[in-house]
Amino acid sequence: MGPTEHQQMATVLQSIAEHDLDHEILDADAMAKRFPQYRLEDGDAAVLDRRAGFIRPELTVQTAARRAEQLGARIHRYTPVREITPVGNGVEIRTDDDAERFDAVVVTVGPWVNDLLPDLPWEVDIRRLISAWYVPTTDAWFGEERPAFIRTSPTHCYGLPSPDGVSVKLGLSRALHRPAGDPNELDRTVQPGELDIFTELLRRHLPELHPDPTRLSVYMEGYTESSRPLVGPLPGADNVVLLAGFSGHGFKLSPAFGDVAADLALDGTSSQPVDFVSTVGRTAA
Ligand SMILES: Cc1cc2nc3c(=O)[nH]c(=O)nc-3n(C[C@H](O)[C@H](O)[C@H](O)COP(=O)(O)OP(=O)(O)OC[C@H]3O[C@@H](n4cnc5c(N)ncnc54)[C@H](O)[C@@H]3O)c2cc1C
Repeated sequence: MGPTEHQQMATVLQSIAEHDLDHEILDADAMAKRFPQYRLEDGDAAVLDRRAGFIRPELTVQTAARRAEQLGARIHRYTPVREITPVGNGVEIRTDDDAERFDAVVVTVGPWVNDLLPDLPWEVDIRRLISAWYVPTTDAWFGEERPAFIRTSPTHCYGLPSPDGVSVKLGLSRALHRPAGDPNELDRTVQPGELDIFTELLRRHLPELHPDPTRLSVYMEGYTESSRPLVGPLPGADNVVLLAGFSGHGFKLSPAFGDVAADLALDGTSSQPVDFVSTVGRTAA
């Protein structure tokens, strides 16, 4: 949802046309009838992606880990890697208890990337994200159709009705997140002033929610300047494959990037078209 002239809306409309995606375009009247929980402003439109869905991240991670073990993976739970050192034709991984050598490694430590690899030649900016949950004042939020949503402007935000049918989750976009600082010392306390922007969003665009949140959580994410992730070998160490800086969009892409990571670690190359995110020849952005 958002102004039709907004660049992100233009991109959405262009992609729909190019790829013939199953969608509907709804104006303010249509939205008021079908999704009365959202307020559109003059000049706004909404695009409904009929094939969109949502992912349960905790279940996804645990299912993937279990499947990996079934296929022969060894998982060292609660075991931080302290150092990664290329040695000869291999790579040494050091933990508090042990050091082990492997032919190749894939590093996917999310917001801890600068911690584990302090000499990285690219910037990954670690930001602190707040998610807030609000209870609806009407049944509209939990009707038969419950799409996740993005509003592009004036405040870029996203959210979705929780699958448990209790509340609506709301999050903000990159420009509104403050730097996280040391990822091991993340400030998980949300100050009342940090809610102002959420409260204004509710007032203007989501008035069918109680303005006092029932749950707040603080997270971290790593952003690159271009928002393109870093995928590929570290300079001078072809057998250390890095995947980092997913800039708020890594989860939905993880099965595809998992395949790419395995290709790069085993063969040094991937048949997927990933040059646009490659670390090879990449400048700071
Ligand atoms: C609030 C929020 C909302 C988001 N919403 C979306 C969304 O709607 N869609 C989407 O696609 N993406 C979304 N993302 C982004 C997505 O979650 C990330 O891009 C993605 O999880 C990155 O995957 P990753 O495997 O690189 O890192 P992570 O998922 O962060 O995983 C890194 C793992 O490495 C572990 N680790 C760290 N250091 C070490 C170490 N030294 N040794 C061993 N293990 C270590 C950590 O404990 C963690 O388990 C969201 C992120 C946040 C925070």
